[in-house]
Amino acid sequence: MTLSLFPSEIKEIEQKRQAPPEGGFIKWFNKSAIKSRLKKALMVTQELRCAYCNSFFATGVNMSWDIDHILCRAKYPDLFLEPDNFVLSCKECNGAKSDKDVLHTHHPRPLKHVPQPTDAYDIPHARKTSWTTHVSHVAYLVYMGKSTQGWNLIDVCDLNRKAEIAAGQPVGAVKVAIEEKLFASWDIPLPQGSTVTQEVAAYGLKREKEIELQAAPIIAELNKKTAAAEAKARRATEKLARETGAQPPPPT
Ligand SMILES: [Zn+2]
Repeated sequence: MTLSLFPSEIKEIEQKRQAPPEGGFIKWFNKSAIKSRLKKALMVTQELRCAYCNSFFATGVNMSWDIDHILCRAKYPDLFLEPDNFVLSCKECNGAKSDKDVLHTHHPRPLKHVPQPTDAYDIPHARKTSWTTHVSHVAYLVYMGKSTQGWNLIDVCDLNRKAEIAAGQPVGAVKVAIEEKLFASWDIPLPQGSTVTQEVAAYGLKREKEIELQAAPIIAELNKKTAAAEAKARRATEKLARETGAQPPPPT
């Protein structure tokens, strides 16, 4: 499985960029087999979790997910096709992040390629660093930063939006109250002698096990579909190589 683009795909993209079909290049790309293949590959790589809120969604349906460009298309159009700039995101996080610039203020501009050091970004880079190093959470509803980048991520993607709407209060002021309310909503009585925090942690571990079980069959199906899409792109690339002497497809 690869997040890189096959030469046949790059060629097709270049052709459509130069002579966009009706509706424009972006509309074409959004409906293309190339984007569909990339999205499935990202679903497998990220195990059906959003790069930003880390929520698990038990669906392998393309429409349920977005591909986000970490450094956005509006400000960094040259990075549009760089695999290190793609992440899988839920619709809400992608909408909240929108065209916000997450390249660190001090990083030199303009860019030719996606920067590799993780401190080049204001937020944790979803593929180069571990989400849990930077953010803690309660049931993927209440988020707290463990680092400056983690706090920035909460801010950029408005991760506490759902909890704050439910509680009618900002998270920082009423974290425990929110947790207690969540407990009540789960209809789980708090055992005597234990704290909300301990019980929430136990609930979290149980939920992670459920997620693993739910994810496994969906990821297995996505792996099959991705392999079929890659085989097709590989055949197209081999044909292209025979015709033009272009480079062979990337290794699997
Ligand atoms: Zn999300």
